[in-house]
Amino acid sequence: MPPSSYQAPTVGDRESHATVSQSAETNLSSTKTTVAELLANKDGKVITVNVDDTIETVVMLLREKHIGAVLVTDESGKMVGILSERDIVRKMAETPGKTLPQQVKNLMTENVITCTPSDLLINVLHKMTDGRFRHMPVVDDHGELTGIITIGDVVHFRLNQLEYEALKMKQMIVG
Ligand code: AMP
Repeated sequence: MPPSSYQAPTVGDRESHATVSQSAETNLSSTKTTVAELLANKDGKVITVNVDDTIETVVMLLREKHIGAVLVTDESGKMVGILSERDIVRKMAETPGKTLPQQVKNLMTENVITCTPSDLLINVLHKMTDGRFRHMPVVDDHGELTGIITIGDVVHFRLNQLEYEALKMKQMIVG
């Protein structure tokens, strides 16, 4: 039997006693990382092609640059689409033996989903997985294309973060 001065804790009590270091958000660096932090570790080059280029040109570029997608620009340099290896494979199945001479504008995805440097990486990852695509162009507040991030970049970056966090914890424990 508890002493008469005892008062059972309420939900509110528990919330107020949780310290900052105990909250899930502060324990996950992934929730705070921005696109800009990831881009800082990349060379920032974006490979583009013209709407009138052929798929043959794109295939050569993808092989040469070891990439999976190109951004498509018009004569003025404005981004008007994205074309990935998946679009090419799909077209090859639809038009066997006749895909390479076709023009980029007939295969590209026009409605390109982009992110900004200040976006949280975790939100970008959600957008990519929900939309089932692996490439996300980064456009700054002035509408300038500043880079492209891939799902592979995000996984690689997060792995490095986890390794660093594990090392820091080890150092804290061992001293
Ligand atoms: P991916 O997984 O990136 O190879 O692309 C799968 C499909 O999504 C292809 O049809 C691409 O053209 C399209 N796609 C890729 N990235 C984007 C993006 N950021 N916005 C809209 N569509 C995209």
